Amino acid sequence: MQAICTAAWGGREPAGAFTNHTIERMTVHHTAALLDTNRNAPARARAHQRFHIDGRGWADLAYHFLVDANGNVYEGRPVTAVGDTGTNYDPTGHFLVCAEGDFDRQSIPAAQVAAVADVLAWGATQFGVDPSTIRGHRDWASTSCPGDGFYPLISDGSLEQAVRDRVSAVAPSLTVLCGEAAVALVADIETGLA
Ligand SMILES: [Zn+2]
Repeated sequence: MQAICTAAWGGREPAGAFTNHTIERMTVHHTAALLDTNRNAPARARAHQRFHIDGRGWADLAYHFLVDANGNVYEGRPVTAVGDTGTNYDPTGHFLVCAEGDFDRQSIPAAQVAAVADVLAWGATQFGVDPSTIRGHRDWASTSCPGDGFYPLISDGSLEQAVRDRVSAVAPSLTVLCGEAAVALVADIETGLA
């Protein structure tokens, strides 16, 4: 699996200091913003980061990774850094993966679920965290996140099983793609080719 580095998707440098943590569990989110076409995904990543930094006053995008509708993965804040939340729970120790879209208003595409599972499988392996720790944001705070079109895959254990299948099949790897290849991939996403 590869993740598009922040510079390649047009993200900004962190705007403040991070608090370090040790990842102990994995929590899934949605952005709660309809993605009309996946060509918008890189611009949405920039918009979310801009809002989190300028609107919320956070150091960076709240999440460690973003996943778009076609399963492209975007690097967020460093995994060593505690995430941020506008809701009432402490994200310390949580590996935060966010799916782009509003799954209270749409169902989640299969390619997106698969990529979320890929990222979680990498996290489970990288941090030695059991897939049984996978939860939705709504399990921790008063929110509908990650939406009724996604949460059932978490509550019924099917996302956990997809992660287990990946962990047992092959050691999941994650390459942060940067430079020309990453810029070309972002261009392909924006023209609907990826
Ligand atoms: Zn959330």
